[in-house]
Amino acid sequence: MPTSVRTDCDVLRARIAITSDCNLRCSYCFIDKERGERMSRSAARAVLDELISSPGPLKVIGIYGGEPMTRWPLLEEMILRARFLEKERGKTVRLSVATNGLLLDAASLGFFRRERVHLCISLDGRFHDRYRRHGDGRGSARQAERGAALAASILPPEQLTALQGVHPQAVSGMAADFSRLLSLGFRNVNFEMIQGPAWTRSARSLFSRRFARVRARVEGSIRDGVPAFLQPVNRMLFHSISGSEDRPALQVHPSGRFSDMPYPFAHAEARFRAESLGSILELRQRAASALARRLLLLGGRRGAFADYLRQAADLGCSQ
Ligand code: SF4
Repeated sequence: MPTSVRTDCDVLRARIAITSDCNLRCSYCFIDKERGERMSRSAARAVLDELISSPGPLKVIGIYGGEPMTRWPLLEEMILRARFLEKERGKTVRLSVATNGLLLDAASLGFFRRERVHLCISLDGRFHDRYRRHGDGRGSARQAERGAALAASILPPEQLTALQGVHPQAVSGMAADFSRLLSLGFRNVNFEMIQGPAWTRSARSLFSRRFARVRARVEGSIRDGVPAFLQPVNRMLFHSISGSEDRPALQVHPSGRFSDMPYPFAHAEARFRAESLGSILELRQRAASALARRLLLLGGRRGAFADYLRQAADLGCSQ
């Protein structure tokens, strides 16, 4: 059951890890998948009740794992419950789910579309198979791309984000992979800097150069009137335009406990490694800030751009 949350606080943003189980064994994964942690139905219900009943009109809730699609009945029930509470309590609830994409099918995607669930799919581009593998060593690229293409054919672009993993040994392809995601139909992309392996000085320098290409592509998309969005740039822009304050997400672990740490970092060693990676996270932040400044000049205050940005800002999700 959830513990120690003050329900008189306005919880704007929360991320709920519903399981440690996963159908993949990615080489860089932080999650200890053998722990067998699974959120119970009663905990999931209580967590949603607490979050959505908290003061404040807007609730932004991201569901992840492990692989949340391995808990499909629970996931479906949580989404329906959230929509019920949204109506009953008179709130606006924005929901997102982060997945590796392998278990997506037309039925689940139709459900996400109907229930206005924003879907985030992890895709590592040309190096996907090197890192994102099954337990027997097989790569998962073909299955993930099939799921992504199906999602792009069923969900509107504003309901879909690609989580583009960038490994320090695979930075060279990041701009080309970004362009490919746009050609698949993605308009929202969140660069996920893979944590754990060393980000050497040369990898960081290459990242900066490749990010300049990504920036040119994003600027071109805005000039063409079909804007592509990057996280965390979206949120920076949104808060610059609206003058509102960004707020961190409350984290909920499969036990139902609330925390200020995302679930994967519950593993002590992973937490230590993540904490020692400040420099690459700063690099990502710096690159995003530079792009946000450019985009504000280019189109950040235009009506259609700002409207789309408002939707995209909250829902860029990460796994
Ligand atoms: S990174 Fe995500 S998809 Fe890969 S093993 Fe970990 S939880 Fe599963």
